[in-house]
Amino acid sequence: MTSLTSIGIDLGGTTIKGGAVNEGRIVAREETTTPQSEDACIEAIASIARNLASKSTNQRIGLGVPGVINPDGDSVAGTPNLSFLAGKPLASRVSEILGAPVLMGNDASLAALGEAKHGAGNSHPDFLLVTLGTGVGGGLILGNKLHTGPGMAGEIGHLQVGHERICACGAQGCLEAVLGAAPIIENLKECGVTSSSLPEASQLARSGNADAVKAFANAGKYLGEALAQVSLLLDIRVFLFAGGVSAAIDLLAPSALAILEKRAFGRKAQDFLIARSTLGEDAGIFGAAELALQNT
Ligand SMILES: [Zn+2]
Repeated sequence: MTSLTSIGIDLGGTTIKGGAVNEGRIVAREETTTPQSEDACIEAIASIARNLASKSTNQRIGLGVPGVINPDGDSVAGTPNLSFLAGKPLASRVSEILGAPVLMGNDASLAALGEAKHGAGNSHPDFLLVTLGTGVGGGLILGNKLHTGPGMAGEIGHLQVGHERICACGAQGCLEAVLGAAPIIENLKECGVTSSSLPEASQLARSGNADAVKAFANAGKYLGEALAQVSLLLDIRVFLFAGGVSAAIDLLAPSALAILEKRAFGRKAQDFLIARSTLGEDAGIFGAAELALQNT
């Protein structure tokens, strides 16, 4: 193998996934359940990296974590699903164990970087990748480059979209409080849809069930409000969606596009692209591996 292979690790609340990436392909994989204590979690990340290192020509490691990265690049400020890691040195500790540099980034930001390099974002110099899962996150690509600011650019889940609900972050009216996986199901119930499974409710909507269609249209309006703010601020017109809830993006898109058209100064719905990302669950691995490469 002559081209450079690098290691990307995606730390999730339930699973740690790693891959050795070479020219847009994952050539080796490792995966383990996320241990729920600081030391065991750090050891598990190092163990995955060690197993992949023999298949990699670049010993730098990229690590994606679910939370806001502190400006030191070494710890995470807010990790709702991994609270035992909050504020603790992470990259430096993994690096010490391995004797190799570890570069860390927010998981949604790195998913955007992965899509920019190898996925649906490849032909778009400016886009926002929105992760729709338990929470709502985002990664921003501007001029073909990942833009994180000091660490939290792209956090679309906490833009205010005009409703009464209190978000897990403590603020009122956040997008995440109506578009996270749980609130979407809640909204479906309020609209009279009894199914508590998102795929089932999506099928109902696609087959024309009026209550289901209405519930997704409601959620899509809130999404549109947030996308319009992003578009007005940055003139972003391409929005890619990853994560479990993105399987229903076709049901959210029509009302989101209608709001975009109404808010974005004369632009038409067709001026915007709302689409699913193409790397799926692997986007984070690709992005983390790219982060390691970029800093070589
Ligand atoms: Zn919030």
